[in-house]
Amino acid sequence: MTELLSNYVAGRWQAGTGAGTVLLDPVLGTELVRVDATGLDLADAFAFARENGGAALRALNYQQRGQLLAQVVQVLQGQREAYYEIATANSGTVKNDSAVDIDGGIFTLGQYARMGEQLGARHHLQDGELARLGKDPLFQSQHVLVPTRGVALFINAFNFPSWGLWEKAAPALLSGVPVIIKPATATAWLTQRMVKDVVDAGVLPAGALSVICGSSQGLLDQLQPFDVVSFTGSADTAEVIRSHPAVTRRSVRVNIEADSLNSALLLPGASAEAVDLLVKEVAREMTVKSGQKCTAIRRVLVPEAQAAEVAAAISARLAKTTVGNPRNESVRMGALVSRAQLQSVKEGLALLKQEAQVLHDGATHKLVDADPAVACCVGPTLLGLKDAAASDAAKLVHEHEVFGPVATLVPYRDSAHAFELIRRGQGSLVTSLYGNDTGALACAALELADSHGRVHIISPDVAALHTGHGNVMPQSLHGGPGRAGGGEELGGLRALNFYHRRAAIQASTAVLDQLQPPTPASAA
Ligand code: NAP
Repeated sequence: MTELLSNYVAGRWQAGTGAGTVLLDPVLGTELVRVDATGLDLADAFAFARENGGAALRALNYQQRGQLLAQVVQVLQGQREAYYEIATANSGTVKNDSAVDIDGGIFTLGQYARMGEQLGARHHLQDGELARLGKDPLFQSQHVLVPTRGVALFINAFNFPSWGLWEKAAPALLSGVPVIIKPATATAWLTQRMVKDVVDAGVLPAGALSVICGSSQGLLDQLQPFDVVSFTGSADTAEVIRSHPAVTRRSVRVNIEADSLNSALLLPGASAEAVDLLVKEVAREMTVKSGQKCTAIRRVLVPEAQAAEVAAAISARLAKTTVGNPRNESVRMGALVSRAQLQSVKEGLALLKQEAQVLHDGATHKLVDADPAVACCVGPTLLGLKDAAASDAAKLVHEHEVFGPVATLVPYRDSAHAFELIRRGQGSLVTSLYGNDTGALACAALELADSHGRVHIISPDVAALHTGHGNVMPQSLHGGPGRAGGGEELGGLRALNFYHRRAAIQASTAVLDQLQPPTPASAA
């Protein structure tokens, strides 16, 4: 029998009382560990986090909480090797892809630790300036932000067991709000292990960080008005969460990061260098984490006349991608996370093939060191719509997200047509633009900003500098309107808003003067 991973709630490790769900190696098919949340006293778990964890965190100021984050970074840095092993075994990712998750998470924590230092020894944040409420300037209004007196429940997706935890936990803990993380079952091991290391190190106050692995049943029922819930996953589950009474009746604040038909747009008149940048980025986005990235490029918009040239160049790059067992040094792309995901990708491909032609077939990739009957590996597939008219006629290509190494080339007639086609994604996390004309790039960015959380522009001058279409940097907003879930995460200090309550304090200026925070340590 495989090891049963414990849950950490109410300040102690507690094993589920059920048989548990087995986590598998997606390449070898072997059993790794089990998770189970059966029989946990969830009411007690949430109350402990809310009362003990919340009170202890709020007793600290931003600078002190930032220092806690810095200590968490130290703990995690010390165990990186173990995390890479777990990622290889449970997510089937090659080293570079594991790094996006593991080191990406640690990097994000480090950034918020620094922001805590900058915020200094204050216990609340000011929002805007004093505002006069009448003729006499004595009676005024000042908006303040204070940490919400609840817990932050995170329900996460399988593709980022590390980054998905820390990109949310960093701003929550910095804000003074305790965290309960429920990782996706398929890859819960890495999340559980990281929490275990932090708990064992005794860095955070009791109740500040809890982990529940296994079924999500009953979690939402525990939410009370000042709690918040942040969800990352499919649009279907998002709907379940949005319609739960905790949200509809108790006004629990909810943040949703759902699926997204992200795009890359080659502007008309782009130089050969710009075309090359698009080709590289599309091939990279398709293959990093086997395309299991919420930000991955799914639609590639190119001027109709250049479609054939771009198709050939992307296909040539994809053909070089070695796929298979991530333990083999020659392998560049590992596995999908499970047989269920493999099946879902195959079904998705079959759907898109109703509208698009295969330009590069993933099935031509022979798996390295992996048994196709067992391994959840699949080669990258580039699809393409025949011409601009086919781009108009297509429906599934603009609506159906295949969560794997799959993208579709979408030819367009002119810029207006390209913008219209991109908007058929109904709101996405990110679009990237490629070209040389700075004015045209800036115009396109503003044109598309309303339907995207992020617009990433790759012009030749930043070829070696840019951070990548799909890389989520803590300084920039992550989230997207509409179809993408309507959520907002990260974006530097903006992330703290979700974990704070805003109130207007109306009083004599003499009272409002008392609200002024102490000078930040860094400025003192
Ligand atoms: P999912 O099936 O919706 O699962 C996501 C999480 O929700 C898991 O932890 C899951 O737990 C939990 N869950 C399932 N049913 C639930 C319910 N009824 N109530 C409460 N929680 C429930 O999504 P997924 O298949 O893991 O993730 C893939 C999707 O996530 C893709 O579509 C991708 O685009 C999206 N995604 C978006 C972002 C973003 O930032 N926008 C990032 C990553 C992924 P179990 O695992 O135990 O079922």
